Amino acid sequence: MTTSSSAAVPAPQVLATLWEQVHSKELPLPPLVRHGDVERHLKALKERAPELFQLEVVGHSVEGRALYHVSLGTGTRHVLLWSQMHGDEPTATTALLDFLEYVRTHREEPWVARLLTELTLHAVPMLNPDGAERFQRRNAQGIDINRDALALQTPEARALKGLRDRLQPFIGFNLHNQGWRHAVGRTGKPASISLLAAAFDEARSDNPGRVLAKKVCAVIRDAVETLVPGQVGRYDDSFEARAFGDNMTRWGTPSVLIETGPWPSREPDMPLVRLNFVALATALDALATGKAAEADVSRYESIPENQSSGLVYLLLRGVGLFGVDGKPFTADVGITVTREVRGKGKALELLHVGRVEELGDLRVLGALETVDGAGLFAVPVSGGNAKEGSTLRLTRPGQHAVKLGQRADLMLLKPLGEPFMYRIERVIRFDK
Ligand SMILES: [Zn+2]
Repeated sequence: MTTSSSAAVPAPQVLATLWEQVHSKELPLPPLVRHGDVERHLKALKERAPELFQLEVVGHSVEGRALYHVSLGTGTRHVLLWSQMHGDEPTATTALLDFLEYVRTHREEPWVARLLTELTLHAVPMLNPDGAERFQRRNAQGIDINRDALALQTPEARALKGLRDRLQPFIGFNLHNQGWRHAVGRTGKPASISLLAAAFDEARSDNPGRVLAKKVCAVIRDAVETLVPGQVGRYDDSFEARAFGDNMTRWGTPSVLIETGPWPSREPDMPLVRLNFVALATALDALATGKAAEADVSRYESIPENQSSGLVYLLLRGVGLFGVDGKPFTADVGITVTREVRGKGKALELLHVGRVEELGDLRVLGALETVDGAGLFAVPVSGGNAKEGSTLRLTRPGQHAVKLGQRADLMLLKPLGEPFMYRIERVIRFDK
């Protein structure tokens, strides 16, 4: 096999730039992408390059939405990639569509041509379209498809299992999102990408397939960390008897789990799609060239493990609070954010709901944003007219206690020296 430098996959930084060129501007933000968008996109790909793509329906969701399988390449080694078996975990669906578009528009590039000769790629973007429609984890039966690999009571799980049994892929990519509280080890850094070579038994044994999956994780780690140092975590590798990744590995399709996590900005979606794109392109190239087989397993095993409650969205460090008795005290306040999608059709809205999730000494937690609360008091926003810079009189501070679990619309107040008088320094608001 020749690997002249011109045939090499572009470096991660270059891939990140190339992604910008192919990312479909017609697609809404990943949480707002619906089955209809995926369907249109796949049909357009097929129409533009019928000789490159095969498109088939491998099943239907509970509510009758077609589950699409798109394949490309002529290699004897088959790779299966599936995304969004959890309906509210959308990032990789867009990344897959962007990657397919990249292959369509760049198939003359030596590394892409090699990919198509060495491998046959099979993708099922959005395995759980009914869940995606509601932006919920489970399917329309209320079943978690990723706990249905053995019982096979969901049509979505049956479609995936059927496809695996038919194709016998030598490796699989199981593409998910994880919550925004995940940190990389105890570093306090967001676990923007977490990786797992799924175990196939309780003992977490190795076999050649799982070792290959670990090596692919090592390749992805090294690519992604050049873009986001310290933001790659290792997912818990406990065996889950009902899950797809674990059973795929047991059935002979070792699975690489990619969990997309938090990102330190208010607009996390596109940077995370870009990271997924870089991860997939680099991993698939390494499988095509055989470089994956030479990767160093310790580069996977040394990734710090995810801490599932190691991070908050916004941390108010050392801020003054009022107890219900009116007495002031100092604490850190940890605010978490979850996303919801509301509305119908084209009028879908993505909302961010903030809650006070942690209170006290939070020095062990990381945060996507930290605010120094020294000299300030935090109180709930009361009324609709809280304006930064205006003054406020609080005669009964006990009525302005910040309580655990409440909505995190807060004001940061600076005492003005006169009794009960404060200036509003900052208003923190989330969507209702
Ligand atoms: Zn998931």
